[in-house]
Amino acid sequence: MKCVKCRDKAAVHIRRHNSAFCQACFQEYFTNQVARAIKEDRMFTRQDRVLVAVSGGKDSLALWDVLLNLGYETAGLHIHQGIFEYSASSFEKTTRFAKERDLTLVTIDLAAEGDLDIPGVASSTRRTQCSACGVIKRHYFNKVAVEGGYTVMATGHNLDDEAARLLGNVLHWQTPYLAVQSPVLEATHPRLVKKVKPLYRLSEYETAAYAFLRGIDYIVEECPFSHDAIQLQYKEALNQLEHRSPGTKHGFVLGFMREGRQAFAETTSVHLRECPSCGYPTTGDVCGFCRLQQEVHKNNSGRRN
Ligand code: AMP
Ligand code: ZN
Repeated sequence: MKCVKCRDKAAVHIRRHNSAFCQACFQEYFTNQVARAIKEDRMFTRQDRVLVAVSGGKDSLALWDVLLNLGYETAGLHIHQGIFEYSASSFEKTTRFAKERDLTLVTIDLAAEGDLDIPGVASSTRRTQCSACGVIKRHYFNKVAVEGGYTVMATGHNLDDEAARLLGNVLHWQTPYLAVQSPVLEATHPRLVKKVKPLYRLSEYETAAYAFLRGIDYIVEECPFSHDAIQLQYKEALNQLEHRSPGTKHGFVLGFMREGRQAFAETTSVHLRECPSCGYPTTGDVCGFCRLQQEVHKNNSGRRN
């Protein structure tokens, strides 16, 4: 097969467009897709200071690489979760990427933040690793961005992530989640940063191809706690549909943004107030992060006494 742009030998085949690109044209296509999402969805401009959440995986490192090439002002944020070899390797890949390019990287070590490493939290509370991890990551993403004066926070979620999440939310009719499932979440409070997902139009296959062609050294292993996650089953089901009918995931996610989300947003009202403990916005009284932190401290001090 030949590249649809320059007729050179094709290296990457995009089935949903029924097209293929050579290495150089694929990188250009990928970069243009990200640039288009940023512009059309009004994610940010050159005046913004963008904090990129980097896990050391292909998606977030590919995202940081593209944003740098597009000339945006960025810094990275890595959260060391304390998940044995997996976190040590994620940390190593992320710090090396930043160091080799002389980039600013903020790191948070959860074990040093009052025993908040994920294995420790899971054993000292009744929470699953994944639910604790989600609460903790979201808190630090926002806090580091707000305290560092960043105007927008970007994550590496791709089309497969968004399609799987949407499928889960639809299957269980999670209307409050459907109301806020979007590649752009505006800052609706002075202590809440705007959140964006510039890779949401690109598949996992495309981000992997981009990272590989750019020679990015990323962590290939999945988190050891995610093996039974239902998200992976949704991804498999969507891949089967995509195989028979290329473009399914794209149509599902982009169609929802266009046709569905607003309807859910209109039926859901969110009242934010400040958490009495940390001061960050929450819909309840004490925020989820502070409740988790209190639980950990209580259980750990009980054990030590
Ligand atoms: P995941 O929830 O693992 O699918 O990751 C989704 C996105 O969250 C990634 O693309 C990153 O942007 C961000 N992320 C995940 N884990 C971390 C981490 N340990 N540190 C910083 N960002 C992360
Ligand atoms: Zn709080």
